[in-house]
Amino acid sequence: MSRYDWMEDARCAQVDPDLWHPDGSGVGYSDARRICQGCPVQQQCADFAQQTEGDLSHSHRHGLWGGQLPRQRVESGSQRAGFYAKRRQQILRLAANGDMDAYQIAEIAGVDVRTVWRTLQKNREQMGKAA
Ligand code: SF4
Repeated sequence: MSRYDWMEDARCAQVDPDLWHPDGSGVGYSDARRICQGCPVQQQCADFAQQTEGDLSHSHRHGLWGGQLPRQRVESGSQRAGFYAKRRQQILRLAANGDMDAYQIAEIAGVDVRTVWRTLQKNREQMGKAA
């Protein structure tokens, strides 16, 4: 399975790709947005755009991905980053108390236990690099 498999179900693969990259002549994104709303892989598409574009500003992002404009993707990316940062802090804070195992931390944080293990492992690596 590749990270591109979802693209086989992309609705935009069956129509003119220029709809997702209007040239500023007034056509706009409305047709593309309507197609995205009915696309079965809209979430995968939005996730892929976030992974690919990273922390680029909206002026360096292009086209409509997952039904989102460049500015919307910037906002959604920072909300997501903020969510993950808060979740990471919660896991580290619970672990620092020392009176809970990973399963209890996972339950309180509302995550899979593997997320707790990965978070703690990554934190140990970062602390090791800083030392
Ligand atoms: S959501 Fe993504 S994959 Fe689906 S039609 Fe829109 S741009 Fe294409």
